[in-house]
Amino acid sequence: MPLADFQQATLQKCMQQQGCPLCRAIWQLDTKQFDWYVNDGVLDEETQQRVRRSLGFCVPHTLSLTLIEGSEFLWSHLGSCMVSVDVIEQELLPNLQKFLTAFGHNPLYALDWKVFSPLRHLVHQSECPLCFDHRQNETAYGEQFIQSFSSDVAFQHLYAQCDGLCIPHIQHMQKSLSEPHHLLKDIESHTQERSVSQAPAPLSLDQLKQWLGMLYGMDTLLWSDYISRVTVQISDTNAPFCLACQDEARETTLTLAAFLDHFEGASHTEESSNTALSLCNWHAWWVFKQCVRDSALLARIEPILRDVDTSLLHTGQQSERAFCHLCVWTSEQETVRVEGLQHLASGVQKQEQLCFWHTNIALYSVSNERDAERLVLALFHSAFLLSKRLEAYVQKCSQHLQDQMQPDEFVVWFDAVRWFVGSENAQFLL
Ligand SMILES: [Zn+2]
Ligand SMILES: [Zn+2]
Ligand SMILES: [Zn+2]
Ligand SMILES: [Zn+2]
Repeated sequence: MPLADFQQATLQKCMQQQGCPLCRAIWQLDTKQFDWYVNDGVLDEETQQRVRRSLGFCVPHTLSLTLIEGSEFLWSHLGSCMVSVDVIEQELLPNLQKFLTAFGHNPLYALDWKVFSPLRHLVHQSECPLCFDHRQNETAYGEQFIQSFSSDVAFQHLYAQCDGLCIPHIQHMQKSLSEPHHLLKDIESHTQERSVSQAPAPLSLDQLKQWLGMLYGMDTLLWSDYISRVTVQISDTNAPFCLACQDEARETTLTLAAFLDHFEGASHTEESSNTALSLCNWHAWWVFKQCVRDSALLARIEPILRDVDTSLLHTGQQSERAFCHLCVWTSEQETVRVEGLQHLASGVQKQEQLCFWHTNIALYSVSNERDAERLVLALFHSAFLLSKRLEAYVQKCSQHLQDQMQPDEFVVWFDAVRWFVGSENAQFLL
């Protein structure tokens, strides 16, 4: 079957299911491709180099890979463990070692403020390869959608029956079409008619999910349905080894309720046009998950989403999708937390550990060389210990037939995920 026909058939199938058909079609293609990175791709030099250069994957994609890898019959995380070992041992540790050597042997160099720029570069992730692939798929299906919609009457009829495109994909269309396309009006008004905001209050959780998917895209909401494939019991995990992850105050601060307090407070002081809630699709899932845990939040979030709906669909106002209120807020909270770890900067010669996620955050607020060195040492220490544990598991697998993971190996794998994305984000798997 020619590619165009296959893509059109996929879109048509997706239009018969819930939510944005573009989101679903792209997600199906993503899932097929991403599999490569944790299966055959771990032995492919070019793929490995791409992953090393980007120091692994972004947070949502690190987590989505854990749901994709393995199969129903042979369940293990060998692939992602091999990727983690490779990134840490081939890229991160050698770079950190070089930095520490230069730091230790040349005190004048250490006093130079320029030291922070290369240091941040060392642990700063460049673009995630999966994000890149995802965007390619999005462009391909977006073009096919316009093509089919403008030339095929049966396709238009099917579209009239479906839930319509999500707002981010309507915005994607607006950007990619060089001149205003007459089809866009149809697509926009269709989404508007079907908007869940027309639903009477109180909202059900299912309606909330649909609404979030329509406003912010369905990406994470779609793959989070597969979470039952990975069941990590809290009782099977160790306490986090990262100092910042261990912070006991975290449980109470990073909640939707705390964010809403902050958001509603800020709304009163800002211009009303800036206050529509903007979220990435990862945090759209996070909002949903928090509402599942605490249904009282549903009533609080509903009027806020209604504002977003109004501002986007009725006045035609475009929000900047790259900006996410929750990404910004979370990062601010974590910065405060890391800064509060006074003992990291104290003179105690203890072998402290920091995860990759928190070191990245901490390096943006550190203001003196001594603290910077301690951060790097703590990162180095944690990365080194983790890679040794991962290596033991990978080696065992290459000597014997790959088997179901043993409980202690499961803990190692989970620690690796946690090290890359931070304990807070790894909660996704619990
Ligand atoms: Zn979409
Ligand atoms: Zn990514
Ligand atoms: Zn941490
Ligand atoms: Zn976000």
